[in-house]
Amino acid sequence: MLDWLNDDQRALRDMAATFARKEVEPLAVQIDREERTPDSLIAKAAEFGLFGLYISPEYGGAGCDIVSVCLVAEEIAKASPAFAGALTVQMVLCPKTVEILGTEEQKRRILPKSASGERLIAYSQSEPAGAANISAHLTRLEPEGNGYRLDGAKLFCTQASAKTYLVMCKTRNHEGKEGYGCIIVEQEAEGMQVLPYEHKLGWRGTNTGPISFNNVRIEADGILGDVLNGGVMHRAANTANVLSHAATSLGCAQGMFDKTLEQVKERRLYGKGMSELQPIAYWMAESHAKLTAMRALLYSNAAAFDRGALDPVMGNVCKAWIGETAFEICSKLLNLWGASGIMDVTGVNRYMRDAKAKCIAEGSSEIHYAIIANQLFHGVGSLVAPESVGR
Ligand SMILES: Cc1cc2nc3c(=O)[nH]c(=O)nc-3n(C[C@H](O)[C@H](O)[C@H](O)COP(=O)(O)OP(=O)(O)OC[C@H]3O[C@@H](n4cnc5c(N)ncnc54)[C@H](O)[C@@H]3O)c2cc1C
Repeated sequence: MLDWLNDDQRALRDMAATFARKEVEPLAVQIDREERTPDSLIAKAAEFGLFGLYISPEYGGAGCDIVSVCLVAEEIAKASPAFAGALTVQMVLCPKTVEILGTEEQKRRILPKSASGERLIAYSQSEPAGAANISAHLTRLEPEGNGYRLDGAKLFCTQASAKTYLVMCKTRNHEGKEGYGCIIVEQEAEGMQVLPYEHKLGWRGTNTGPISFNNVRIEADGILGDVLNGGVMHRAANTANVLSHAATSLGCAQGMFDKTLEQVKERRLYGKGMSELQPIAYWMAESHAKLTAMRALLYSNAAAFDRGALDPVMGNVCKAWIGETAFEICSKLLNLWGASGIMDVTGVNRYMRDAKAKCIAEGSSEIHYAIIANQLFHGVGSLVAPESVGR
């Protein structure tokens, strides 16, 4: 499968697999237990160039295509889906949003530091009213003098300890017109506060938590794109983002499968190899079939995206279906470990927990299926209220 990959893509995939095996796998259980990625691994990821993979070379990145990004995300997720989840936010969502919407000055200010891992970026949209329900969001940007003032609070911010935040919020311009914009807030800004992180079921490679803004001064160069219309994620950034997340779900399920295959081959039950128990062999074969279909779906759509030929709703198809199927696989295969899979000692139940978290993060499956349904029934590949497309 994937015999159409070019030499660069193959080489990158092999390097990522080696990086995942040598650097990520030995820390995967620790990352899950301690709910954080060690700084040493973040430094190695930066050295490897992971943060800049999808950033254009003129801003310090490698300028890779989304197929390459997905290959890397899949390999890392096989070892640690929790680390891979945090990585995709840094590799795709945040920098691509800046690269698409930002002014030249903003791109030069933010992207080289993001590519080098010096200043990680967080994307902050969710509020208690619901992440996608943006018409009910309360965080607001109001004009003040020749700049603006930001007030409000956000939830579930991945990489809540980042240095730079992209904050989606209601906005008003100096002429009194209202919209929904994307604001750049630096961690050092007065009035900006990172609140205690949440403990999570899965995707524990990064801190996720609330942040708040109390009378934070925002200058004009802190607005990303149009002040009234920068907050709805750009379609291209969104599609690239959900494809990379589908890749982490695929890697998560593949990682669980690979570990379970070893176990099934080695374990003996009733005096014979476990694979000779027919239901066990069936679940392994069925999971293999699903993984093959997931991979074909993801990479054919990623390649179409790179050619500029992808119907964006296929990004939603990949995110929702691959995410849910990954959870089904991880959940089913955990049965094959018996009680030892439930106990922490084998370190495999994290795959099922990470797969579930991925069904919610970056827009829960229902939100993606709602977008797909609107495409089917109304020819509009977004949520019914166009202003509420998002995560
Ligand atoms: C690990 C993790 C990391 C996250 N990181 C970030 C982050 O960095 N930044 C950020 O802003 N957010 C982040 N989120 C939040 C995430 O984007 C939201 O949780 C997700 O989009 C669902 O929104 P909600 O939790 O507000 O659910 P709600 O909007 O409260 O909805 C609850 C449920 O209702 C259903 N539903 C909601 N809307 C629709 C719809 N339109 N159509 C059909 N069904 C619907 C879904 O089943 C949904 O799960 C993260 C979440 C997780 C779990």
